Amino acid sequence: AKRRDKNRWVLFEESMNQQYSARQRLKVDLREAIRTQSMTLAYQPMFNPQGTRIAGAEALSRWLHPELGPISPADYIPLAEEMGIISDLTRCVVDQAARDCASWPSNLFVSINLSAHDLGDREIIAVIADALDRNNLAAERLQLEVTESGLMGELETARSILSELRAMGMSIAIDDFGTGYSSLSYLDKLPLNKVKIDRSFISELTDDPSKLKLLRGVVHLSRELGLEIVVEGVETQEQLKVIRDNNCADLIQGYIFGMPMPMGAFVELATTLSRG
Ligand code: C2E
Ligand code: CA
Ligand code: CA
Ligand code: CA
Repeated sequence: AKRRDKNRWVLFEESMNQQYSARQRLKVDLREAIRTQSMTLAYQPMFNPQGTRIAGAEALSRWLHPELGPISPADYIPLAEEMGIISDLTRCVVDQAARDCASWPSNLFVSINLSAHDLGDREIIAVIADALDRNNLAAERLQLEVTESGLMGELETARSILSELRAMGMSIAIDDFGTGYSSLSYLDKLPLNKVKIDRSFISELTDDPSKLKLLRGVVHLSRELGLEIVVEGVETQEQLKVIRDNNCADLIQGYIFGMPMPMGAFVELATTLSRG
């Protein structure tokens, strides 16, 4: 009898494990990974449209799970937001990015992603100021990317936080532009320097003529407002040609010129190009 009970328990535990497993396990591991600062950063270069010079890089979080392998930030960032621990991750990203950028040639900037939650709490101002200070990095070399969905919550708080950071010298980019709601209304409400045009505009650029009209419209509007334009997700020569021919980009970030890479590779590429 004893033995049978034990087997039943094992079966019960197994089925519980299957339900509990994946997501719950990931949450536990994510909390631990953030606590122990196990995430790293990959850097994706932003080029001039000719592809001959690098202006800076976007810092992209990377998590190498010890058993599951690499996990996409598109999966764990939303999870960290949901768990209320995103600001701990942001803190690490700010710190690491500032430390890394301080070691680069001084003409290169670093761009980091802020979450909705970060823009709802004024503490982010001190977190960033402190990281700049400790790493002796000029505020002008730090760019902050904010998404439209990140601003949906308390627009007034976000606006006030971003204004302060902008006044310190950082530049502010609106990310994934063109994917959210009432995008246009943010353009003159926020202290922006740059617009990052979402990949969805680019991926259909060469099949759908109306996409080019949209892109040209967005570019015109952004320039009227004095904003710099970063075009994201450029993958093919055809896309690149359309973007260049129509003068749609100040900077290009996409696989065609460079994937996200470890810092060493990024610095090497940037210095090689700057030597001509
Ligand atoms: P994002 O901010 O829009 O970052 C750009 C994403 O597009 C990156 O994906 C990048 O690898 C990818 N990408 C760049 N060029 C191309 C291209 O030519 N083709 C295609 N198909 N994709 C391209 P990644 O690194 O997987 O990051 C996904 C998202 O996770 C980011 O989207 C961002 O929203 C979020 N994320 C990443 N790191 C952080 C972070 O440190 N903090 C926060 N809050 N979010 C982050
Ligand atoms: Ca981004
Ligand atoms: Ca983006
Ligand atoms: Ca995105």
